[in-house]
Amino acid sequence: MTKAKQVQYLIIGNSAGGIGAVEAIREVDKAGAITIISDEPHPAYSRPLIAEYLAEGRPLESMLYRRADFYEKNEIQTLLGSRVERLDLGEQAVVMESGERVEWHKLLLATGGTPIVPPMEGSDLKGVFTFTALDDAKGIDQFLSGFEKTTPRALVIGGGLIGVSATQALEERGVAVCIVEMRDRVLNMILDEEASALEEEALKKAGVEIITDHTVAKIVGDSDGVVAEAILDDGRSVPCELVIVAIGVRPRTELVTGTEIEVNRGIVVDLQMATSVPDVYACGDVAEAYDFVYGENRLSPIWPNAYVGGRIAGFNMAGHPCDYPGGTAMNSSNYFGVDIVSAGLVMPPDDTYEVLSNQCDEYYRKVLLKDGLVVGLVFAGDIEKSGIIYNLMKDKVQVETFKQSLVADDFGLISLPEEIWRSHLEMPPAVD
Ligand SMILES: Cc1cc2nc3c(=O)[nH]c(=O)nc-3n(C[C@H](O)[C@H](O)[C@H](O)COP(=O)(O)OP(=O)(O)OC[C@H]3O[C@@H](n4cnc5c(N)ncnc54)[C@H](O)[C@@H]3O)c2cc1C
Repeated sequence: MTKAKQVQYLIIGNSAGGIGAVEAIREVDKAGAITIISDEPHPAYSRPLIAEYLAEGRPLESMLYRRADFYEKNEIQTLLGSRVERLDLGEQAVVMESGERVEWHKLLLATGGTPIVPPMEGSDLKGVFTFTALDDAKGIDQFLSGFEKTTPRALVIGGGLIGVSATQALEERGVAVCIVEMRDRVLNMILDEEASALEEEALKKAGVEIITDHTVAKIVGDSDGVVAEAILDDGRSVPCELVIVAIGVRPRTELVTGTEIEVNRGIVVDLQMATSVPDVYACGDVAEAYDFVYGENRLSPIWPNAYVGGRIAGFNMAGHPCDYPGGTAMNSSNYFGVDIVSAGLVMPPDDTYEVLSNQCDEYYRKVLLKDGLVVGLVFAGDIEKSGIIYNLMKDKVQVETFKQSLVADDFGLISLPEEIWRSHLEMPPAVD
């Protein structure tokens, strides 16, 4: 029997969370052996940029999250294109798909999310894709290159961030897209009704067809097993050659199923990003970590939260205790030319929340308050000052006395009482 490999730090997942962790570890431990494992074969790349890969063939080199020599320079061993099959927590080891065992002293689970594909007739046909990884974009690209004389039509199931991102890329490739969204509007998880309407208008202007309040019942193929049409839940047929399933992503918790590691919607972690099992940490999309708006653990699957959570995990794994400041849902996008920023709560859960808003042809601004504290914001059009509001929310600044200025046309740092912009926004002292 071959001897198991032994490492000090083992990280499963080579993306925002994993990279955050190794950078923190190397800041305080230059020598400990680090191994990163990922079932994706690529060096860490910016996942949000897969849309640009699909739209314009952006090369991998310009999507890399760190320089190509990052791993070598930091003396990190990589096992890329290798899947961890199971954890052996008793022996502090993981078992690879190949049967190889890797033992660890500290383990980080940065396994991210996995796209949800509902059981649906026809979901195994040629031409059906998900859109969360570079290889998905490559697969779609290759599939589209098979259409030399005709323009393919695509059906995107789900009008969330991933669906709209895929739609933009496909539109740029000249593909006619129809989005089918189960709820009453696109981007409903990250935007309120007003901002969704602005985005929907831009999508339609670009020629995208949007069908809301419906879903796809089945996908039908031709005699070659290639997508030919989708049948909606009301029996309508949507002819298409390509289907992108983008109804959501769930934490990829399969490795901890059946272990003592506590899982709620994601792997539950404390402020040090430690799981319920000693020496095992988790971060990023797979983890349910502290959300500073809700004051409790929640999923907040965005890149910056994964990176910061990874750093906190890394420091703690390397014996330098520190706490996660908390993250929250925050999105900044420009789909079809509409600048949008949203963060925290976008809709008031009940009438104890106060809503301040200001809308005109050029912009839309909304700020949600609870007991004089900012708990959410939606900015569309002119988003320049949204960062100030976000910081007021993050720093839990009491805004009651100047709240009306938050959505005013001339809002800026100058609108805030001096002691606030000095202490919370780290402005240099005024010179007399
Ligand atoms: C199309 C798209 C657009 C996005 N746009 C934005 C955006 O604009 N802004 C933003 O903030 N966020 C965006 N996100 C979300 C962002 O990409 C994620 O929050 C971030 O990638 C999470 O990082 P992570 O390290 O937790 O996990 P991931 O990036 O999901 O990486 C986890 C890695 O672990 C690997 N893995 C999992 N299990 C195993 C196993 N058993 N063995 C080996 N390897 C394994 C996976 O294959 C994957 O490579 C977008 C996501 C997508 C898909």
